Amino acid sequence: MTDNPRVLFVGGLGRSGSTLLELLLAQSADVCAVGEVVHLWERALGADERCGCGERFTGCPFWQRVGEHAFGGWSAVDRDEMLALKDRVDRTRHIPRLAKSSLSPEQLADVRAYAARYTRIYRAALAVSGARVVVDSSKHASLAFALSWAEALDLRVLHLVRDSRAVAYSWGKQVRRPEVVDGEDFMPTFSPLEVSKLWTAQNAAFHLLAARAQVLRLRYEDFTADPAGTVRRLREFAGLPDDPAALRILADPADRTGSAPPAPGGEPASSLASLVRVHSVAGNPLRFNGGPLTVRRDEAWRTRLPRRSRAVVSLATLPLRLRYGYLGQRGSDSVEEP
Ligand SMILES: [Zn+2]
Repeated sequence: MTDNPRVLFVGGLGRSGSTLLELLLAQSADVCAVGEVVHLWERALGADERCGCGERFTGCPFWQRVGEHAFGGWSAVDRDEMLALKDRVDRTRHIPRLAKSSLSPEQLADVRAYAARYTRIYRAALAVSGARVVVDSSKHASLAFALSWAEALDLRVLHLVRDSRAVAYSWGKQVRRPEVVDGEDFMPTFSPLEVSKLWTAQNAAFHLLAARAQVLRLRYEDFTADPAGTVRRLREFAGLPDDPAALRILADPADRTGSAPPAPGGEPASSLASLVRVHSVAGNPLRFNGGPLTVRRDEAWRTRLPRRSRAVVSLATLPLRLRYGYLGQRGSDSVEEP
C-alpha cells in the first residue's frame, strides 16, 4: 500500500456522457469528483467561473480549502508559468513523445513538474473531502499521458467512447455555458469532419496509453443501458467496494438495480435522496442540475444529423467505429453485444 492519491481519470472526446457519469459516481461518500481540472488554470483561476455548486470559484469553500491545502492558497500559484508549462507538456501534438519509454532530462522535468501540480490538487481534494478516490473528468488524452509520468500518483483511466455520429451531432449544436457569470458565452461547435478527426485522434491515443497506465474502456451506450452495473464496474476498477446506496439518485427505480437482484423493498421515487452537488471545475451544463438523475441514451442524432454529415462521419471514423461495434448505416443494431 502506498499513500499516493488515487485518481480515476475520465478520458475520451467531450459529449460522451462524462458529466452524467461523474455526477452519478459522486453520490458515494468515498468519491470526490472535481470536474475538469485541466480547465482550472484558465476558467477558474483566470475567469473565476462558477463551480458546480453554483458559487464562483473564489467563493467556493471547497476549492478555497483545496487551494490552501495544495499550495498554501491559490495566490501562490503562478498561473502564467503553469500555462506555459501546459503548452510545453499537455498538448495533443506532444502525445507521440509522451508515449515513448524515455524523455530528455528537460522534458522529464517539465512533465513531472506539470503532473505534480495535479497530484497536489488530487491529494488536497481527498484530504478536504475525506474521500478515497478523486474523479477528474478532464478527458484530454494529452493530460492522461502527462499524468502517467507522475512520480506519486495512483492513476486509473476510464476511456469513455460514444458512437462518432452521436458525438458529431452534439458538437454541432449551440450550447450556452451557464458557468460564465459576466456576459454570455457558448460551448464551441465543430464541423462533422473536425469532430471525426478529434474523435479518432483522442480515442486512438487512449489505446496507446494502455501501455503506460491501467485503462478501462466503457461505451456510453452500455453505460446508459445499465447505469447500476456501470457504477459497480467502475467502483471495482477504482478499488472501491460496491455502494448501491449511491444509485438512489437515479430517477427510474429500474435503473437502480440493473442486472443485480433488486434490493428488498425498493424505494419509491418520492423518497429519492437529493443530489450531492459536485464542486466541479468546467463540464457540461448538466452539472448545475440539482435533481434526480435520468440516465437515458440520447438518440436524437439518428433523426436529426443531416444525411451528408452522417456520411462524412461514418466514413471518416470507420476503423475505430467498427472496433467499438458501432455498425450499420442505420445503426439500429449498433449497441448490441455479439
Ligand atoms: Zn463549489
